Amino acid sequence: MAITIKKAKRINELPPYLFAEIDRRKREALARGVDLIDLGVGDPDIPTPQEIVEKLMQGASKPANHRYPNSAGLLEFRQAVADWYQQRFRVKLDAVKEVVSLIGSKEGIANMAVAFVDPGDIVLVASPCYPVYHVGTSFCGGRSYFLPLSKENHFLPDLEAIPAEVARQAKMLWINYPNNPTAAVAEKEFFVRVVEFAHRHSLIVCHDAAYTEMGFDGYRPMSFLEVDGAREVGIEFHSLSKTFNMTGWRIGMAVGNQELVAGLSQVKSNVDSGIFQAVQEAAIEALRLGDEIVAPSRRIYQERRDILVSGLCGAGLECEKPRATFYVWVSVPKGLTSAQFTASLLDEAGVITTPGNGFGEAGEGYVRFTVCVGKERLKEVTDRIRQVRF
Ligand SMILES: *Cc1c(COP(=O)(O)O)cnc(C)c1O
Repeated sequence: MAITIKKAKRINELPPYLFAEIDRRKREALARGVDLIDLGVGDPDIPTPQEIVEKLMQGASKPANHRYPNSAGLLEFRQAVADWYQQRFRVKLDAVKEVVSLIGSKEGIANMAVAFVDPGDIVLVASPCYPVYHVGTSFCGGRSYFLPLSKENHFLPDLEAIPAEVARQAKMLWINYPNNPTAAVAEKEFFVRVVEFAHRHSLIVCHDAAYTEMGFDGYRPMSFLEVDGAREVGIEFHSLSKTFNMTGWRIGMAVGNQELVAGLSQVKSNVDSGIFQAVQEAAIEALRLGDEIVAPSRRIYQERRDILVSGLCGAGLECEKPRATFYVWVSVPKGLTSAQFTASLLDEAGVITTPGNGFGEAGEGYVRFTVCVGKERLKEVTDRIRQVRF
């Protein structure tokens, strides 16, 4: 007889899966033979540059790489990260103490809570946001306190609006600029305010910097660690995924405050055994080539952004041209909810988008488009949307 299998509370307490309804409609449309265009997932369609693939192939045939890697990462990889930070941001890092490799930044983001969040701790998280910040928190029994982002505050959290009692108790703050899903960017003044706030309330700052290399029109987003005092309070998460079109490879890094890096490394050494060294060798090559191989994809995304934004504006929708990321955050037409608008884009135009409230309550009123399909398909998207009556 089968035993009764009961999931852990942390799984049962996850918020309901908001995309189930979209998945259902998507399957129906596919069954009807609709030519769907998927602007839902933030996953580059551009292949990884060939130089990086070559390095992997060379590394894969070396027996030394067939053994367990070190969970903190090859020293050569961590040094390549430090060199890249120096060259790109003028931030000096100690490769041994201030850098740890990650199996994609998602892994590190989730494990950050394992290292530093105790049951009952308050973690400050934006709404809308990349979901792992609060899921990681909740898995560890922490409580997320949501900071609403809005167009009026340029999608930056208003730290002064946080009740004194909450700020006093908060253990950690998550920020992410350039931002997913809103595509907002932050200037130095914002990071300076964050550092000051963190010192004042003695809290840890985690900056998710996944999109710093995807700035457009010459805009170069900064590292949080460029700000004075940031290293005393913070850690920055970075990833090769979006920068080098390497989402499938699973490699990223966390850098910054020594104690934060050490805590995260300690968790990791107990639960994982690092990244295949051939992948690390390929990543070293990616970081070494840097902008030489990033610039071409940045140009492609910029051109696509222009096509999508001007097409959506032409269709009467309200959106701003993002200065970074491969997302476009579009206001929902009056009288519709995010879910209704997403559904009508799917049913009437065969275009998949993500409803803003899927990233948190404050995302209601928006939908997120990605530009992870080619130019011709994006033109097709805007042609189709122009035919839809909202
Ligand atoms: C894609 C993404 C990540 C995760 O990237 P990895 O592939 O796990 O490195 C982290 N944060 C944000 C905001 C993202 O959009």
